[in-house]
Amino acid sequence: MIPFFIQKVFYYTWWKGKMKMCGCLFCKIAAHEVPTTIIYEDDLCMVFEDINPQAPVHLLAIPKKHITSLNDAGEGDHNTLGHLLGVAARVAKEKKIDGSGYRTVINTNAEAGQTVFHLHVHILGGRLLGWPPG
Ligand code: AMP
Ligand code: ZN
Repeated sequence: MIPFFIQKVFYYTWWKGKMKMCGCLFCKIAAHEVPTTIIYEDDLCMVFEDINPQAPVHLLAIPKKHITSLNDAGEGDHNTLGHLLGVAARVAKEKKIDGSGYRTVINTNAEAGQTVFHLHVHILGGRLLGWPPG
């Protein structure tokens, strides 16, 4: 029987290797290998500032697990998806845009404008946002 601690080390090494193999930018951000301004972090997710903000507040909430897009989220990921929205509301409150209003957006695939293929929720606020989006 392998001790629990050793199992955890093996799992951590395997998971880090998996993330590195995929070469995904947001996996690297989740692993603290690419610097960014982190607003919130827990075991399941991370929220950081978008590098090219489209509003005074523009944050990205990502799962730490690599999920390519909303199309690729399985039933086992539903808890994480709900958690991402809950965390989005929490950081919106911290940024004081909950009262004025904010938008949460998940772009999925090319025609929606997805450019980074690791699922992420945009959190935009601090200005009047037009509708419908372009
Ligand atoms: P999307 O076009 O929906 O896939 O959104 C990708 C977002 O990631 C864009 O808003 C980019 O500005 C943002 N982005 C790309 N690279 C970085 C980075 N290194 N740090 C923070 N945000 C990034
Ligand atoms: Zn990834």
